[in-house]
Amino acid sequence: MRAQLLTATGRPLVAADLPPPSPGPTQVLLQVRACAVCRTDLHVVDGELPDAKLPLIPGHEIVGIVAGKGAEADRFQLGDRVGVPWLGWTCGVCDYCRSGRENLCDRARFTGYQLDGGYAELAVADQRYCFAIPPQFGDAEAAPLLCAGLIGYRTLRLAGDGERVGIYGFGAAAHIVAQVARHQGRRIFAFTRPGDAAAQDFARGLGAIWAGGSDERPPEPLDAALIFAPVGALVPAALAATRKGGTVVCGGIHMSDIPAFPYRLLWGERAVRSVANLTRRDGEEFLALAPNVPVRTTTQAFPLAQANEALAALREGRLSGAAVLVP
Ligand SMILES: [Zn+2]
Ligand SMILES: [Zn+2]
Repeated sequence: MRAQLLTATGRPLVAADLPPPSPGPTQVLLQVRACAVCRTDLHVVDGELPDAKLPLIPGHEIVGIVAGKGAEADRFQLGDRVGVPWLGWTCGVCDYCRSGRENLCDRARFTGYQLDGGYAELAVADQRYCFAIPPQFGDAEAAPLLCAGLIGYRTLRLAGDGERVGIYGFGAAAHIVAQVARHQGRRIFAFTRPGDAAAQDFARGLGAIWAGGSDERPPEPLDAALIFAPVGALVPAALAATRKGGTVVCGGIHMSDIPAFPYRLLWGERAVRSVANLTRRDGEEFLALAPNVPVRTTTQAFPLAQANEALAALREGRLSGAAVLVP
């Protein structure tokens, strides 16, 4: 099978022709139809996350058709369309797993990081961590739901019920979460790179009632802020824009250092927290909700062989919505 392979961090992916993977007892073999490109893939490729499997097939927003099954894989039928997210395996017995927080499992393994992912023609995945994909979505449209959508949804949930929600970094996750938040009757304030008029127009097109640069103050204080850009300086900026009692949620897996800031920005029972990974419950909830919103994903398709170009476009902020690799 053709695949795009990370052989060493800090280097471009290389095209490889590999033997097809064979599914383990509880795994399904998938013919990959689409795999979205996530900012986390950039962090893995750049070596900003420790201990990636090498060589590695990146990609954790996989939509595929079940083309084979292990001996104990009975959850899906051949021909079913399923999605594979970032959470690829958990231990099931640690305190986190037993308390509904499998996203924090100490021994969790993640797709496209410690497990081979979807930048390939074929992939294997443990059936217990796969999701059925709602039929309303095409393959490429569905792929960004599997991380940008899921993590965005969890980030919004952990921000509380506030009506005025600021979103810093208007990329793949933000463009989905904005639609969900609006569906919930909230008002969206979008913050982009200063001067990025195209991103601000994109945000307004998705229902943001205000869009401006991340160095600007919104017209009214926020009840909560979601940060998707990997820029630590946005934390004090978001705190300064958030009212007393509000929450700032960092939705990314990696961020540049957060600069020192005066205590008065945190004072007033403001909270800063992160979101780590996803639980299967997040996925089931979000994929049930997405067709009702209905979420419309904006995607830009790249052939599998152009994975490096897709990563570069994401790195340089040249995408509206999500890049999706199509084998
Ligand atoms: Zn565990
Ligand atoms: Zn992701």
